[in-house]
Amino acid sequence: MLPDVATQLRANAAVVTRAAAAALRPDPRMRVSEWAAQYRVVPEEISALPGPWRNEVAPELVEIMDRLSPDDPCEEVKLMKASQSGGSAAAENWIGFIMHKAPGPTMYIGPTVKAAKDWKVEKLDPTIAATDVLNPLKGGVVSPQKSRSGDGSTADRVRFKGGFLLLAGANSAATLRQHSIRYMVRDDRGGWPADAEGEGDPKSLSDQRLKTYRSFGLSKVFDISTPVDKGSDIDREYEATDKRRYYVACLGCGAISDLVWEDIAKNPDPPYRCRWRCPLCRREHVETDKPEMKRPERGACWIPTAPDANGVVPPKTIRPEEIARWRYRDCGRYTPGYHLTGEIAAFERWENIAKAEAEAGDDPERIKPFVNTVLGRPYEAKGEGPPWESLSARREADWRRGEAPAGALYFTLAADVQGDGIYWERLGWGPRKECWVVDYGYLSGATDAPLEGAWPKLDAVVDRGFRLASGARVADDLIGVDSGYNAEAVYEWVRRRHNALALKGEDGWSKPAIFGARSAEVRKSGFSAGKVRRFGLKVWLIGTWGLKGALMVYLARTPREDKSGFPTGYHHFPADAEEEYFRQLVAEYVRVESGKGGPERVWARRGPNHWLDCHVYNLALTHHAGLWAWDEARWETRAAEIAALAQTSAPDLFDGDAAAMRPALPPVDEESEEAPPAPPVPPLAARADRFGLASLKRLNQ
Ligand SMILES: [Zn+2]
Repeated sequence: MLPDVATQLRANAAVVTRAAAAALRPDPRMRVSEWAAQYRVVPEEISALPGPWRNEVAPELVEIMDRLSPDDPCEEVKLMKASQSGGSAAAENWIGFIMHKAPGPTMYIGPTVKAAKDWKVEKLDPTIAATDVLNPLKGGVVSPQKSRSGDGSTADRVRFKGGFLLLAGANSAATLRQHSIRYMVRDDRGGWPADAEGEGDPKSLSDQRLKTYRSFGLSKVFDISTPVDKGSDIDREYEATDKRRYYVACLGCGAISDLVWEDIAKNPDPPYRCRWRCPLCRREHVETDKPEMKRPERGACWIPTAPDANGVVPPKTIRPEEIARWRYRDCGRYTPGYHLTGEIAAFERWENIAKAEAEAGDDPERIKPFVNTVLGRPYEAKGEGPPWESLSARREADWRRGEAPAGALYFTLAADVQGDGIYWERLGWGPRKECWVVDYGYLSGATDAPLEGAWPKLDAVVDRGFRLASGARVADDLIGVDSGYNAEAVYEWVRRRHNALALKGEDGWSKPAIFGARSAEVRKSGFSAGKVRRFGLKVWLIGTWGLKGALMVYLARTPREDKSGFPTGYHHFPADAEEEYFRQLVAEYVRVESGKGGPERVWARRGPNHWLDCHVYNLALTHHAGLWAWDEARWETRAAEIAALAQTSAPDLFDGDAAAMRPALPPVDEESEEAPPAPPVPPLAARADRFGLASLKRLNQ
């Protein structure tokens, strides 16, 4: 049966009229923090501290919530936060307040539509159920959820007296297009895509929804996120605000300080017994003092730290008599921005932070999530590798290209496809990201025609494999080929090999190392021509920016002074690696450019960078293989497998002298090298052999 269109229209009109009436009605003088204290009940499902909301537990959230109250003139509030900081609860309180006291058209936007719906089910629905003035079963203002659309709430729309809350995703332009919106929460900005379905930046799209209410000065937006990289997403926006930091009070002299993690002393091993000394009176504070140090009655408060017109910023420690001057100082910026760090958060313990820091160790790929989620700080990726000369000086005399020394246990090969040839690089990996540059090269020839030109040469490189220190000849575990250029030819080549992946690099600081495999194949004919084949060849997306940052840290690492071993990510180079290889490896650096939303940090190149691209893809392949989740036992098993392979292998096709006779600096072009007879291409095997042992064995049968 067709829905009664007239009824539907009347219902819609009624909602619009009610919303308009609500917008004109004078807003209550109540503040969001007062509302929370009076009405909000934190359900057990979502918090370690359930029960009626108490502002005393997290006094740092009070000012943030109150800037979202109707009587505060600000239109935007930015919150950059650690993950266990209570920042999300502030957003829930604001939405509860809107529903109950200041109804209007409201939108919650997550990184994806699914993330927004998950938030509703996991956070909002339990909050509504636990809070009487919201709960429809207890006479609250929210409409009960109904299976059929109409006046009731649905999975993507919560209705309440005088307004509604729409759930939208930054990945869906359609959900960002609907309705004129007065109140908006933009959550988890670090996870937002740069583009919503080809329709542009989702933040700009969502801004369009606010236009009407903004023109009357009635709109309010709460941007909230854990930061990712310095200069991107929420950090970029925070930098443009008045940059508030929560100063905590000394229990001795009453001075307030901008406490950061580095100020906290700790033991090198657990228990860490974290402690902080007031820089003025030297009184020592421990974890259990934290709630008292954060009390507003002691002077603790948010201090705007943005420089004023003369470049003046507040000191790190402020004497009691100076607090008011700094707190209410006019820095010339009127968008409030809050940086809620892990070290001052009510729901994070110093002891846990110390533990997380110890676990991250010296690996930049682990330090980054620690800095982002535990401390709540943006990560400043290393923007520059060491000079190429220092890498070249680290070449190791006792092995050459084409050999993998003892220690290397897993092997990857990555190729960067250009119009007139293919650059390739083969790396060996050991525990803690220790890396050996086994070989690299350039294969000239056209790359546009599948399996012609340079492609048979790549087959030869792969089929020839390389030698272990023991003399056994082995093949790569995992191969990746960049499909950003001549993609169809890349797919053709990759499809024939069970351990090869098509890769595609993506710009941007928030991208994971390897992610979002999507189908590259499109049906060519028939009823569904033009549609993506669901089970076609997958293309793996590579977050190259973050990987480059980590790589520059690894490359700069030198052996430990006491010769006790190598730091995480240490790189070994063969005796005959050439200047051009080293130059390309460090050919990129981070440059600050002016972008739409302010200065942006981007990778720029100072020369050819093909082997750097190969290297980044190789690093991504190790993430795909899950190497860095291997425990010691798994590595030992692998080492035993490699050792067994060496013992049972047939005599090497090269004799030992052949390698020694190779020129010290062979020409870069593989063409001039004599290619040994290539074994037949192995038959297509199941892709399940992720660790490549089958192919290792095959070459040695
Ligand atoms: Zn003191």
